[in-house]
Amino acid sequence: MKDIFILIEHRRGEIRNISFELLTKARELSEKTGGKVTALLLGHQTESFINEIKSSAHRIIVIEDEKLKDFNSEYYTATLFNVLTTEKPFLTLIGHTAFGIDIAPALGSKLNIPVATDCIGIEIDNNIIVTRQMYGGKLNATINFKDSSQFLVTVRQGAFPVSETNLSVEHPAMAATEITKTPSTLTEDIAAIKFLEYIEAATGGVDITKANIVIGIGRGVKEQENLKIIEDFAQAIGGVVGCSRPVADSGWLPKDRQVGSSGKTIKPKLYIAMGISGASQHISGMKGSETIIAINKDPNAPIFNEANYGIVDDLFKVIPALKKKIEELK
Ligand SMILES: Cc1cc2nc3c(=O)[nH]c(=O)nc-3n(C[C@H](O)[C@H](O)[C@H](O)COP(=O)(O)OP(=O)(O)OC[C@H]3O[C@@H](n4cnc5c(N)ncnc54)[C@H](O)[C@@H]3O)c2cc1C
Repeated sequence: MKDIFILIEHRRGEIRNISFELLTKARELSEKTGGKVTALLLGHQTESFINEIKSSAHRIIVIEDEKLKDFNSEYYTATLFNVLTTEKPFLTLIGHTAFGIDIAPALGSKLNIPVATDCIGIEIDNNIIVTRQMYGGKLNATINFKDSSQFLVTVRQGAFPVSETNLSVEHPAMAATEITKTPSTLTEDIAAIKFLEYIEAATGGVDITKANIVIGIGRGVKEQENLKIIEDFAQAIGGVVGCSRPVADSGWLPKDRQVGSSGKTIKPKLYIAMGISGASQHISGMKGSETIIAINKDPNAPIFNEANYGIVDDLFKVIPALKKKIEELK
């Protein structure tokens, strides 16, 4: 049977959204394969988590241990290794988050099974086919694995929507959610890493979710050196600079400036999209803006479908002209 296991990720007492994204996708895949969806819940005092996920999985395997309360890759990897060796699920899905990136390669190597990371698509036929992005999102690559009876895949956040619908009662594998409590065998000495505390990432003083005017920049800005022109413009009109994912991925701006499904959702009074094509993942983060202006040299760029006003031209020509006009008006 092609059973799918999901690692439930939680932080500071809350299940993270990626877990629900994975549960939704696993349910969709299991409808086709007839396998069961099992949630792997590692933690301490997990009752509320169990209640939250119990309508989303056929089975929940709970491993309780105070050492699993906060994320520790060594305790998590050792526990997962034991469960996956005993249970041998066909596919295990883990979020491509800071947690997942830390666990998956070591776990895959210990289990000696194929691993694909940062996937945005999964299909199960006889084998598994996953989709990954290449060249900063310019190309999608589909990947086949070598034959194996077990696979491990990490999934990009926001790649799959969360469905509110619970497991279908018609599903052949669905009876009632089975809860299996497995004792933890962890001992202190297996971990060299100790969890000390959570520290929130610094926002760098700019919170794009609170700004009235956001200038969103995309790959059309070409290179990091050009940010100065944009920042000057943003300052001139009292706005802050946000960005599309490729800009954040390139490290030109911090991740907390990214707008979109795997970034921030913003609703400013004015959003000016500069050199942004308007991919759905970007649009979902800014479509609630009161007024949207798009500047793009491609008249067919999808961003114009969302914009209230559009300028089809080279942004490096438009910015000085706009800045001059604004200064005159001031
Ligand atoms: C699971 C998943 C999650 C994602 N999450 C996000 C997310 O949260 N946020 C996000 O933004 N993306 C996200 N993406 C990526 C998204 O699919 C797009 O790849 C990305 O938004 C494209 O960014 P872009 O518009 O800057 O680049 P491109 O698509 O490369 O567009 C660049 C645009 O600039 C224009 N241009 C070029 N030069 C100039 C110039 N001189 N003047 C004017 N215009 C110019 C071009 O005509 C083009 O339209 C995600 C993708 C996946 C699969």
